[in-house]
Amino acid sequence: MTLACLSPETGPLLEVRHIVKTYPARGARRVQAVSDVSFDLARGETLGIVGESGSGKSTLARALLALPHPDSGSVSLAGSPVLAVGKAHLRELRRQMQMVFQDPLSSLNPAQRVFDIVEMPLVAVGGYTRPERRRLAGEALASVGLDPARFGQRKPYEISGGQCQRVSIARALVLDPRLLVCDEPVSALDVSVQAQVLNLLEDIKDARALTLLFISHDLSVVRGISDRVMVMYLGKVCEIAPTQALYANPRHPYTATLLDAVPTLEPSRRSPSRPMVRGETPSPLNMPSGCRFRTRCPRAEARCAAEEPPLRALADGAAHQVACHFPLAGHAGVAGDASSARRHATLHGAGAELRVAAC
Ligand code: SF4
Repeated sequence: MTLACLSPETGPLLEVRHIVKTYPARGARRVQAVSDVSFDLARGETLGIVGESGSGKSTLARALLALPHPDSGSVSLAGSPVLAVGKAHLRELRRQMQMVFQDPLSSLNPAQRVFDIVEMPLVAVGGYTRPERRRLAGEALASVGLDPARFGQRKPYEISGGQCQRVSIARALVLDPRLLVCDEPVSALDVSVQAQVLNLLEDIKDARALTLLFISHDLSVVRGISDRVMVMYLGKVCEIAPTQALYANPRHPYTATLLDAVPTLEPSRRSPSRPMVRGETPSPLNMPSGCRFRTRCPRAEARCAAEEPPLRALADGAAHQVACHFPLAGHAGVAGDASSARRHATLHGAGAELRVAAC
């Protein structure tokens, strides 16, 4: 079902501009969870968002769907504003933007049967008869590999974690959205089940021409599914680039740190020349001046404390943007980066083998 308010199939599907989200803290202070984040999402693209806990990635995802509204900024879906609209319009837009949550069991009502859970969005938007709802719920369950006759009358505690996540995905698909926001959709699952759910998401994306926003703290998971990757730290975007470019040649020191932290079965392929990051993540109540990563960054200089680095395109690739005054050297000049690229390619290869085996 397509909204009349949406523009023709041109331009990005999602345009996000200057999103800021804060939460009240003790006293009159506020915690900045997301600070001035902007990006575009092309139709049919999968954008992975990675970062540590507290980086703001989940808060950003929810703010895009006005769950709840951000403090400021704008979001448009196919040219139609999402945030500055009335409730009825927002309800219509949300048909096009659905979310899959992290913990499949806690995101499902334990008292409801699978059919009722999957029908819930149809009830919320209204306009469907009970037989229509049952038919659409059955089709959504079948599309995620669950036989409606076998699973429709079960309750969440009567099925496995992977099956619960399939029910969550069916619930998100039942309104036939254009954008699926997946917030750590596999992090609560066993590794073998993770592979099955990732395969399912990719199949569904292809079959329905979906656009995906995929959030995870696991870089090897994000690499396997994303066309581009955006890295966040303390509410800010550090780096955004095509997946291959980012993993082969990270240019922000924080991205390089995250990649170096990915476990490897081949320690000899670590990058011995890369200086280690120091210290803990600062409190969001006491953000460092200038660059937010400067208290941990081995490359920090006086300018990093005085001046916040803007997100800007690198001279050698407009699609690769970095917020750093002194980005890491390009691929050709850094032997350590090449080593890192080989290591992550190996990790990715292992993940691919696992996914094939799990199917
Ligand atoms: S701006 Fe400075 S402190 Fe921040 S990441 Fe770059 S080098 Fe490090």
